[in-house]
Amino acid sequence: MSTIISIRNLHKRFGHLEVLKGIDLELQKGEVMVVIGPSGGGKSTMLRCINHLEKYEKGEIYFKDVLLHEKRVNMNEYRMKMGMVFQQFNLFPHRTVIDNLMLSPLKVKKMDPAEVKEKALNLLKRIGLSEKASAYPINLSGGQQQRVAISRALMMDPELMLFDEPTSALDPELVGEVLEVMKQLAREGMTMIVVTHEMGFAREVGHRMILIDDGLIVEEATPTDFFQNPKSERTKSFCGRFYRKSSRSVYRGAPAFCFVYPENREHDEPRADEGPYGDLFF
Ligand code: ADP
Ligand code: MG
Repeated sequence: MSTIISIRNLHKRFGHLEVLKGIDLELQKGEVMVVIGPSGGGKSTMLRCINHLEKYEKGEIYFKDVLLHEKRVNMNEYRMKMGMVFQQFNLFPHRTVIDNLMLSPLKVKKMDPAEVKEKALNLLKRIGLSEKASAYPINLSGGQQQRVAISRALMMDPELMLFDEPTSALDPELVGEVLEVMKQLAREGMTMIVVTHEMGFAREVGHRMILIDDGLIVEEATPTDFFQNPKSERTKSFCGRFYRKSSRSVYRGAPAFCFVYPENREHDEPRADEGPYGDLFF
């Protein structure tokens, strides 16, 4: 096995707020790592440090054996190797779907336009959106937009994909189509770090799970051990906050066994029909 990402003792603060307090992590080629944890724990910050969208004060991040923060490293070159998909799709609204896909390979990689177009059309075909090539993002559903955003990242032939809650802004009935694309990628051997509370995904294609809380990794295990034999009290209490519920009409058709985690509703009152932190569906 070869290591793609190695993080050692990563510390990150925003002003006086220490957000990452010493993260150590190794990710092997072909591995799918699922990251969960409470809102504000530092999950997004860790992903953003990996591709250096954020600077950090202390610690090291290696891509293969290259120490990324060294001055001689051209970070743009390494950013291309790491595709990132966000909760809010982030497509360019004034560009068509195919232009969204073609932009970076043309501008950043200076690839041949005909080759880029062929590649974009192939990717759109793969996700079943060939007929949307000339559409604008606003005319696509959230699920379609997110599938396009994943394809756009794949246009750069990344060696690693970083997903930051890719389905948590979607209506429940659109979550499945995005997870399907991600599962397919995982099965094809893509190396992935996925921040998500979709536990069906974790169970089906995840190799390892970590729980990040208050800037630290408090549990690291296979998905099976994570749920069945959690080592830390923190994991037990985090998982325990989700109570079991067998059905709710809006989640019919959602993948079996998933957290519905109110990350986006942290300022909302819990609904009458759910526990204080959301539900765990089987
Ligand atoms: P998570 O993704 O686990 O919800 P984040 O990594 O987004 O957590 O945030 C961790 C902490 O860092 C939170 O307290 C958040 O408010 C803070 N934070 C994140 N980004 C910034 C920023 N750009 N400036 C100041 N504080 C930030
Ligand atoms: Mg986040």
